Amino acid sequence: MDIPKSLVRRTSWPTSTSRPVVTPLQPSVVYASPDPDALDAQYTDGTGYTYAREGHPNADVVAAKIDMLEGAPELFDTPGIMTGSGMAAIGAAFLGVLKAGDHVLGGDQLYGRTLRLMTQDLPRFGIDTSVADPTDVGAMRAALRPNTRMIVVEVISNPTIRVADMEGIAALAKEHGILLVVDNTFTTPRLYQPFAHGADITIHSVTKLLAGHSDATLGYVAARDPDLRLAIATANATWGMTPSPYDCWMAERGMHSFDLRFDRSQSTARLLADALAEVPGVTRVIYPTRPDHPDHNRAVGLFGGQGGNMLSFELAGGRAAANAMTRAAPDVAFAPTLGDVGTTLSHPASSSHRALSAEAQADLGISQGFFRVSVGIEEPELLISEMVRAARAAS
Ligand SMILES: *Cc1c(COP(=O)(O)O)cnc(C)c1O
Repeated sequence: MDIPKSLVRRTSWPTSTSRPVVTPLQPSVVYASPDPDALDAQYTDGTGYTYAREGHPNADVVAAKIDMLEGAPELFDTPGIMTGSGMAAIGAAFLGVLKAGDHVLGGDQLYGRTLRLMTQDLPRFGIDTSVADPTDVGAMRAALRPNTRMIVVEVISNPTIRVADMEGIAALAKEHGILLVVDNTFTTPRLYQPFAHGADITIHSVTKLLAGHSDATLGYVAARDPDLRLAIATANATWGMTPSPYDCWMAERGMHSFDLRFDRSQSTARLLADALAEVPGVTRVIYPTRPDHPDHNRAVGLFGGQGGNMLSFELAGGRAAANAMTRAAPDVAFAPTLGDVGTTLSHPASSSHRALSAEAQADLGISQGFFRVSVGIEEPELLISEMVRAARAAS
């Protein structure tokens, strides 16, 4: 290596015939180019990085891995876009694609912030929105308007674990030339690949199962059509929703174990669902592979017999039993997130769905004794015995 001439200049880097085994973290905000011709080419042909808000290597490394999981290049060949959060991915898709006068139809149990974005924020920009039950394609059809530009759905609803009629909705969108946007966060590409089933845009909160350790906030959005892809990438950079290199780097590290974590969490979730169903004070367990699931046949068809890592259950004793449950299982984090390596328990009536009236909660089947569980990768016997003991103690 050359002897440096300055403490300030950053031009020297040791050469090595070997390469690092770990993906380097590249925090550089800006990139220096050899000359104006080269810089011109970077802007016009995308031949190099210029400024981190426009893109950086750590984002591209993670995006390529999620592209692979979602079926690129067999199903779509436009590279996915990383965003600063799952909500930024949804925001970028809306901002890049919609205009005043459009109508957006959403599933009625979308993620809370997505619903807020649709009901409170899009209308301020002259975009109409409404919601309908995505398990009932007739209800979705009835809610279409002449100006419907986009349908937004999640395959598995939160927190009631209902399974949307994805085939019916995809056919409906195709018939009317409407863009189908699928938030695939709960399902992950292991349960469902939206592009293989007619989606135009696929979104992830990478924060959840993909990154998997609750230490990176990140989103992903991919569009099949190159013009839509460009519009979304431009909105992402212009509105400043691009991610930090550090979060991308952390997420890539987390994703190394995604398949293993998914397998383990899913197999434990199935066992836990059946174990909880045997506890006398548990009135309901909702898990896709259970024959008593309200959309069981559809779930089997869509997920090929898999059930994922999310389940919900209800205790007979209302809020008092709910309080007793979390106190009796102090090692299971009572925290409103999902997809972490550790199991988390959430209570929608006091958190995600607290803004709803008691009547609206009851319509969804969310009582004071209702819990959602995101099953993690801890020792299955340990987790199941803790949860069963707590549910017994609570009832
Ligand atoms: C968490 C979540 C989001 C938002 O993701 P953030 O990374 O928290 O912004 C969107 N959709 C679903 C289904 C989620 O679970």
